[in-house]
Amino acid sequence: MSEDCIFCQIVAGDIPGRTVYEDDTVLAFLDANPLSPGHTLVIPKAHHERLNDTPADVAGAVMSTLYELVPAVESAVDAPASTVAFNNGEEAGQEVPHVHGHIVPRFEDDGGRPIHALVTDRPELSDAELDAIESDIVAEQA
Ligand SMILES: [Zn+2]
Repeated sequence: MSEDCIFCQIVAGDIPGRTVYEDDTVLAFLDANPLSPGHTLVIPKAHHERLNDTPADVAGAVMSTLYELVPAVESAVDAPASTVAFNNGEEAGQEVPHVHGHIVPRFEDDGGRPIHALVTDRPELSDAELDAIESDIVAEQA
């Protein structure tokens, strides 16, 4: 637990949250500032800042919970779709430094945008640059 982390305080029960799922590893609760009805956050109970600070089995439990919750959340608010995403790091817009997956129910004409609208100024990448990025990512896994 991180003393000044709002999500750790929700896990500890020091701050009330609207819990929609809980097990030994994972907690899911309604976002206090929802982007749409049913906006849900899924977090590991242990404090990990980013996705890859999280042990693989715990990250797997978070993903599994997202998988199970998406249809329940969509159904509960009668949403035909949802955006499921992580802001992974401060530069990506992560505001609470405790990894959390979002389920944002989406509705026709809700004014929201797709993941491809995250960045308005897209880079022009040549085939050679894309090839180099591809091989760099493969090499990083070695
Ligand atoms: Zn925390």
